[in-house]
Amino acid sequence: MNIHEYQAKAVLKEFGVPVARGIPAFTVDEAVKAAEELGGPVWVVKAQIHAGGRGKGGGVKVVKSIDDVRAEAERMLGMTLVTHQTGPQGKEVNRLYVEDGSDIDRELYLSCLVDRATSRIAFIASTEGGMDIEEVAEKTPEKILTLTIDPATGIQAFHGRAIAFALGLSGDQNKAGVKLISSLYKAFTETDASLVEINPLVVTKGGEVVCLDAKMNFDDNALYRHKAIAELRDESEEDPAEVEAAKHDLNYVKLDGTIGCMVNGAGLAMATMDIIKLYGSEPANFLDVGGGASKEKVTEAFKIILSDKNVEGILVNIFGGIMRCDIIAEGVVAAAKEVSLQVPLVVRLEGTNVDLGKKIMADSGLPIISADDLGDAAEKIVAAVKEAA
Ligand code: ADP
Ligand code: MG
Repeated sequence: MNIHEYQAKAVLKEFGVPVARGIPAFTVDEAVKAAEELGGPVWVVKAQIHAGGRGKGGGVKVVKSIDDVRAEAERMLGMTLVTHQTGPQGKEVNRLYVEDGSDIDRELYLSCLVDRATSRIAFIASTEGGMDIEEVAEKTPEKILTLTIDPATGIQAFHGRAIAFALGLSGDQNKAGVKLISSLYKAFTETDASLVEINPLVVTKGGEVVCLDAKMNFDDNALYRHKAIAELRDESEEDPAEVEAAKHDLNYVKLDGTIGCMVNGAGLAMATMDIIKLYGSEPANFLDVGGGASKEKVTEAFKIILSDKNVEGILVNIFGGIMRCDIIAEGVVAAAKEVSLQVPLVVRLEGTNVDLGKKIMADSGLPIISADDLGDAAEKIVAAVKEAA
């Protein structure tokens, strides 16, 4: 789960990580009030969306008067902000963060994440903050330090010093950096985060080390033990179909293709996507209905797949082990009737009660195309979609 910058800063602050002072605002009046409370003389008005690159896209503005805070708030609220991370459709701005303007001397990069390659928490640090870290990694990889933390020891002072040194921090700044890094690690582990990215971490002209941007991601499977963090979820930032799927305990990920997939088991779902590609088409989604899905769940899954306007055909591929094929067939028939299905549907069932399942579909009066194995199913749906077009 992703949260907004202002929320991430509030979480980090609780763990003693130094962040700039700021107040969130949902309306222009709230933004003006926030600016008055902060007092100035320099403010930064920041659009809150779940994407970076806001600065370049016009979503971060440094201003020097309350009137300009108002003008920027009026401009930003309701606008569609397009950045290199939002995709061309952009994201609507519904929240702002009004922050103290910092007098920046240097912009650094610092992040902490779960490194899958080493199965450890790693820190990534660079003196080249504030811009695309991907570009730095590609063009000047020597400017990036990666340091993995041994879970048996946790973070140690020498880790902090190594990172602070790599960031070019010395004297009091080094001390502040070491403290910040250890607080960041504590925030990371104690909230079950999967990513904390500070870009930029700045050194101010006054010599302070402060987080000016903050991005936090959390492990969804651990949210049950972080109620306060789970409440920070902003569903308006997420794909509506994925939000709906999560409510029904369905694993759904929207993709760009045209063949909707409904499969039980993540492995089979991946194989189904692969074979659709093999036969020359592209999957519209990943959808795992799980092992013990009910008829209602299958109906919901169907509706979610069909809510994607790009879907030109559906492939249902179910292995009935725990879940019986007749239950799936009933769900498919009920859902196809309920949504008055307009696109070709291929169903491949195998396993418990497969014959009964096939009979239910054949007797339904619906134009369901039955398939015998995975290859057959993929070939049939690709052909059916071509024919329908
Ligand atoms: P994004 O990464 O989405 O572009 P940032 O929060 O990193 O958004 O802001 C972009 C740039 O704006 C920063 O690199 C920094 O130069 C400047 N900036 C952001 N917040 C402040 C602030 N509080 N004071 C001064 N400058 C800021
Ligand atoms: Mg940033």
